[in-house]
Amino acid sequence: MDRSNRQLQKVPCFSAAERKLARTPSVIVIGSGFAGIAAARALHDASFKVVVLESRDRIGGRVHTDYSFGFPVDLGASWLHGVCKENPLAPVIGRLGLPLYRTSGDNSVLYDHDLESYALYDTEGNQVPQELVTKVGETFENVLKETDQIRQEYGEDMSMKQAISMVFDRRPDLRLEGLANKVMQWYLCRMEGWFAADSETISLKCWDEEELLPGGHGLMVRGYLPVINTLAKGLDIRLSHRVTKVVRRNHGVKVTVEDGRTFVADAAVIAVPLGVLKSNSIKFEPRLPEWKESAINELGVGIENKIVLHFEDVFWPNVEFLGVVSETTYGCSYFLNLHKATGHSVLVYMPAGQLARDIEKMSDETAANFAFTQLQKILPNASQPIQYLVSHWGTDVNSLGSYSYDKVGKPHELYERIRIPVDNIFFAGEATSMDYPGSVHGAYSTGLMAAEDCRMRVLERYGGLDLFSPLMGEDSLISVPLLISRM
Ligand SMILES: Cc1cc2nc3c(=O)[nH]c(=O)nc-3n(C[C@H](O)[C@H](O)[C@H](O)COP(=O)(O)OP(=O)(O)OC[C@H]3O[C@@H](n4cnc5c(N)ncnc54)[C@H](O)[C@@H]3O)c2cc1C
Repeated sequence: MDRSNRQLQKVPCFSAAERKLARTPSVIVIGSGFAGIAAARALHDASFKVVVLESRDRIGGRVHTDYSFGFPVDLGASWLHGVCKENPLAPVIGRLGLPLYRTSGDNSVLYDHDLESYALYDTEGNQVPQELVTKVGETFENVLKETDQIRQEYGEDMSMKQAISMVFDRRPDLRLEGLANKVMQWYLCRMEGWFAADSETISLKCWDEEELLPGGHGLMVRGYLPVINTLAKGLDIRLSHRVTKVVRRNHGVKVTVEDGRTFVADAAVIAVPLGVLKSNSIKFEPRLPEWKESAINELGVGIENKIVLHFEDVFWPNVEFLGVVSETTYGCSYFLNLHKATGHSVLVYMPAGQLARDIEKMSDETAANFAFTQLQKILPNASQPIQYLVSHWGTDVNSLGSYSYDKVGKPHELYERIRIPVDNIFFAGEATSMDYPGSVHGAYSTGLMAAEDCRMRVLERYGGLDLFSPLMGEDSLISVPLLISRM
């Protein structure tokens, strides 16, 4: 039976006064990233009237597949972390038949690439012997195990940088010299990339709080856009509608956009990035409670960018990751070789933390040149790129950061505090996910969660909890195997 028919049959008859109450519940979703679209889709499917207000002229937020090279390239998220049927995005990815290229079968946050798939070089262009890359990788893992010991001994939190330096004092056998130390810095640099933050700001206590789904890490070969486009189909999305104010009243919300127009509904789902909430560019009336404001202020938001270089031909080795090792993490760099996964002659340079912040101050041309200079350290005869793309997640007013992370001395529960609803305002987005922060599937799950909370809350008021179908309809239970190449 068609679901809409089923709902119609369930609608009871109302008196005139009751009929007034029986009007369609409504919700405004602010932000059309994975969190906002997941919430909007779920509430739309549960018969809510849904309007999505999006500040950009496109949907997707930090999922942004660019086609200007003539093929898809992701400037934001590109991996599905957790290539398994438990991943909440697996049903839709599977149904669309989208291929994934698995870069690692490991479930650790550190190794979204297998060690043997790296080719590392020193700044003179000499390749680091593969045995050394693997050996130092193992030593780095041991260093991290030792930091766990320090975590247990000390009550106070400290930075990962401090903890690692304490490990070296205690265990001089783990301290490496010369080239091996540079490789160690490279691993630390990769870890900083995961958190989009420098090790002096990453919390020892919380760095591994994030839960990882099984199945390793898979690149979305055709980009993430088809997934969000599918989820967004048929929704009422108003692009170029930047929200500036959210007023909550007893029986609803009033949302104002930049040009002064207002929208009213029973409830709102706020699915804008943490960086935007931190900037106070959206005014809440009355103000959000103090515990919510301080959680927003205290959770960290880091920066990672992509500088995508498109070449005429492939002239680099057939590995997944090319890296430059250095004495400091700031001096290290790495390139993802998209040719392995997609067949296109593209390298993606990915700076994070302070380096990313510094590069964002450059013009796009200078930034692309900077990335190319790093490549020339590895391959002095590298040919010039024919095209490039540069992301600006840190300074773009629609994101103001790449993704959230735990700062030193701050509890992991901040994510939950940011999620908890305030009256009829619900919060979603990667920075509201205790388990899967900083990820697409995390953002998606929080959208579903906010939608369910919102549905319950609004329907409590309507007194008709069984009027609408549950959010996770039968469709989402259909399981289609994922198409995974490599391993
Ligand atoms: C470079 C980079 C690489 C990444 N790599 C991965 C990866 O490989 N795998 C992975 O799982 N995750 C990755 N992530 C993280 C992932 O992209 C995010 O966690 C996820 O996309 C966030 O979704 P969201 O819905 O919470 O926020 P967003 O996608 O940012 O959506 C928020 C929306 O709100 C809109 N908005 C902002 N302000 C307003 C306003 N005032 N009014 C109306 N709308 C507004 C924005 O334009 C945006 O569309 C990466 C992120 C970056 C930046």
